[in-house]
Amino acid sequence: MADRLARILTDDGAVRGVAAVTTDLCDEARVRHGTFPTATAALGRALTASLLLATTVKRDERLSMEFTGDGPLRGMLAEATPEGTTRGFAYRPKTDVPLRGGKLDVGGALGSGVLCVMRVPLAGGSIYRSVVPLVSGEIGIDVASYLTTSEQTPSAVGVGVLVGSDGEVRAAGGYLLQGMPGADPDVLARVAARVERAPAPSDLVRTLLVPAAILAELLAGMPGRVLDERDVRFQCRCSRRRVQAAILAMGRGEIEALIAEGRPAEAVCEFCSTTYVVTEGELGALLST
Ligand code: ZN
Repeated sequence: MADRLARILTDDGAVRGVAAVTTDLCDEARVRHGTFPTATAALGRALTASLLLATTVKRDERLSMEFTGDGPLRGMLAEATPEGTTRGFAYRPKTDVPLRGGKLDVGGALGSGVLCVMRVPLAGGSIYRSVVPLVSGEIGIDVASYLTTSEQTPSAVGVGVLVGSDGEVRAAGGYLLQGMPGADPDVLARVAARVERAPAPSDLVRTLLVPAAILAELLAGMPGRVLDERDVRFQCRCSRRRVQAAILAMGRGEIEALIAEGRPAEAVCEFCSTTYVVTEGELGALLST
């Protein structure tokens, strides 16, 4: 089943919700970056959170979330677009720390630090940037804290990645529920209480399979309308053309030196781990453009 995302608005207009199933894209990120289990979970949670939050940005913006901490993982960077694409990486992909309470210890691997959220206009222009301290490093609660304090929107966020004993991602996904301006505080309190008792996000994905069903479960008793549903996927923006442009930006002297040494230029995209090899012939052609 393809990874999907759904948005809902309750009929009373009190709560807006987004849920995503991200199992395949989280496993693709694991394969691309060769992450170990704790890093797999941390990166998967960040990618899922970026997709959820990207539904709140304008159509011509992309959302970037950088988690940095003093733990062995050091951090991860995830970016997403409102169209449902995401890309990202963990700073130390081979991080695996002991389980805590039988669960992958993402908070322990990340440590104390900050979350930086950026909304970047695709066509250039001023970037909105906000930095908040991490609450637990478990990602969901950190993103909820960011939304509640920085954007003044009462929010509940859950993201989870279930990693199998073979290291593969078995189930991943998450949800974001937000109180709309002027919503009845009692209604929001009931939703918060229900979210508190809800199963872990990866269990919701395992049992309910589709995002609309996850939202229906979390908002039980609150009828709503699905606003839209779409596929979500891991997709990078890198390309051979961009790599060539980056090489050109090194300057003529550097490129001539590479050619003189008789070796190709090699570049690895940090977001998706694709390796680009630019041969001497191509380097020569770049110089003559
Ligand atoms: Zn890339």
